[in-house]
Amino acid sequence: MAGIASYLDFDRPCPACEGVRRRTRDRSCYTCHLRRGQANFARMKAGVAPIVTRNRASHLDLLRRQKAEREGQGITRTFGTITATRWPTGRLEVHFPNGTSTPDLAKAMPAKAIWQAAQRTPDLWEVLVWAGWY
Ligand SMILES: [Zn+2]
Repeated sequence: MAGIASYLDFDRPCPACEGVRRRTRDRSCYTCHLRRGQANFARMKAGVAPIVTRNRASHLDLLRRQKAEREGQGITRTFGTITATRWPTGRLEVHFPNGTSTPDLAKAMPAKAIWQAAQRTPDLWEVLVWAGWY
């Protein structure tokens, strides 16, 4: 049976799934083996199994940033007529010369509209370059 991955054993069906195909290597149930493999593959695709530590690290990083933000650790700069603050969570707060402001520019406008506004408004362009958007 060398070189054959599985064989049939009708006398001893798998107690778990009643399958009769066995792996040659260790005589375990071939169907259960495949199902375990698929479950692991699905978990990997979902990013669950292999990157637990990275998920935890990024979660801790987010908590740290939220704490820093609550403590007011933003960086505020003025570019011409526009004042902007970069917050640790990535939020970009912008105060426009006409008195309006937004606590989160990325959520306030679609990316294309922001880009178009920046083309018309050099001060805004400088803000966005400073914030690393462009
Ligand atoms: Zn089985």
